[in-house]
Amino acid sequence: MSDLFWVLYRIVFGALFGLLIGSFLNVCIYRLPRHETIVRGHSYCPHCRHELAGADLVPIFSYLFLRGRCRYCAQPISPRYARIESATGFIFALTAGLWGSGPFAPAADKPAWLAFLPDPGYSALAIACVLTAFSALLVWSMILFDGQLPPQTLYGFILVPSLLRLAIQPDRILLHLAGAAFAAAVWWLLESLHLLPESERANRRHIFTGLSLLGLTGGLIALQPVMAAILVASVLALLAKKPERASRLVHLFLPAAVLASAVIWLVL
Ligand SMILES: [Zn+2]
Repeated sequence: MSDLFWVLYRIVFGALFGLLIGSFLNVCIYRLPRHETIVRGHSYCPHCRHELAGADLVPIFSYLFLRGRCRYCAQPISPRYARIESATGFIFALTAGLWGSGPFAPAADKPAWLAFLPDPGYSALAIACVLTAFSALLVWSMILFDGQLPPQTLYGFILVPSLLRLAIQPDRILLHLAGAAFAAAVWWLLESLHLLPESERANRRHIFTGLSLLGLTGGLIALQPVMAAILVASVLALLAKKPERASRLVHLFLPAAVLASAVIWLVL
């Protein structure tokens, strides 16, 4: 079998797995800020509360087949569920295609305690760390986008895999610590210059924490979308007349920054 076959095989497998994870992320985005459990309980229509069957829950395909309407009450289903699934499928496919190369290549100087780990296991571990952190960041950005507050435990699902990944790829440590420090510094500078919209204190702490962790996960190279998001959001906030509208604009740029960072850190 040719190399191309295996690359395509990994991309298709990654995309399908990503669609399933994207469907789970939708559940997390909806339930976590409402303090509902994400491990048990059936999915239901938010309009008619009818329990959804397996055929209603196939990522993207159910949405297309039902033409964007609930099977039971015919109310429109928000297209964002399918969008989150497609975005996750895309990032997972891209990551699986890069198995063992690019950002998932074994560290040039493999630490001694990792000598036992064969290279494929090494790549798989790096990929699992990055995808876990990415998924948690996407959930974080969408919860803020909805005007809700993410639970503190969500940050553990970004921080722990990002640090584990740096422990197994020590040649990347400086790049990623600099990314975190830089994101934090930019946010702090804009905040102390009062260039950010006056929203609730709690919200700002969450945005600061998430953007710093995005810098830690993606490294310096993934910071451009973060910077662009902060700058565009602060300019729009200055122009916006109503403060609620201004903070909404900042939140709109968070999911965009997470997705753009993920693509940049994978491709560059
Ligand atoms: Zn319904």
